[in-house]
Amino acid sequence: MLIGCHVSPAGGPHKAVERGEERGCKAIQIFNQSPRGWKPGSYNEEQLAKFHAAMEGSSVEAVLIHAIYLNNAASEDAEIQAKTLASLGMSLKVGDDLGAAGVVLHPGSALKGEVPPAIKRAGAIIGEALAQSESCPLHLEITAGAGGTLGRTFAELAELIDAAGGSPRLGVCLDSCHLLASGYDVRTPEGVAKVVDELDRELGLDRLGSLHLNDSQFPLGSNKDRHADIGQGELGEVGCQAFLQEERFQGLPCVLETPGPDGKGTPAEEVAYAQRLHAG
Ligand SMILES: [Zn+2]
Ligand SMILES: [Zn+2]
Repeated sequence: MLIGCHVSPAGGPHKAVERGEERGCKAIQIFNQSPRGWKPGSYNEEQLAKFHAAMEGSSVEAVLIHAIYLNNAASEDAEIQAKTLASLGMSLKVGDDLGAAGVVLHPGSALKGEVPPAIKRAGAIIGEALAQSESCPLHLEITAGAGGTLGRTFAELAELIDAAGGSPRLGVCLDSCHLLASGYDVRTPEGVAKVVDELDRELGLDRLGSLHLNDSQFPLGSNKDRHADIGQGELGEVGCQAFLQEERFQGLPCVLETPGPDGKGTPAEEVAYAQRLHAG
């Protein structure tokens, strides 16, 4: 398992690799554009050359790109649809440029509308974004299930993948906090194994592309997406270790997106703690 955390790419993507190394990461995750606005972001030749040079011989073996949260591929609003397509399409092209392990996307929200047509709309946008790029995988992230969010169950993720055309580039990202919030009991090794059995039945294990390890501030089935530091939430040390040690997760990138003790994100100590739990 390639354990690491979300880092900033401020100064260029090679700086994200440096920040990952400082934190002892084997995998990192970045936003390819500011998550506060819609402006799609890409990197120029010089930035890409520096990035690829930095990756050579680096402890960082895998890079994930998180698509911005403003995206809503299921929106009924033509302007939001167009902005989502532009942003997601660019994230995937950047993924091609960086050789990323995947772009992670929250599949969208039906808001107050019906779910089946929302899945259809999301599938159309996702399929189009894939067609604009070459080969970077797209991982639909399981959501915490708040409001009308799509992708709260493995069955719904499977429907989204179908609606998007079923490309082999489509996979899923499992977030331990979101799983718990959506009612998947991942607090013990037996619980995690049962959940992965279900994933295998509903989606097939070959669709599993990446992992997010976050503890959860709220309990099982709460539908609340509030990350806690590793071992400090409802999963606790036992749940986090069970997630890290699940046999069928090995080899995958697994990034922490925790608040950290000062609210500035995951520190090196926490990455090291996750690596100890994984080892031991
Ligand atoms: Zn996540
Ligand atoms: Zn989350």
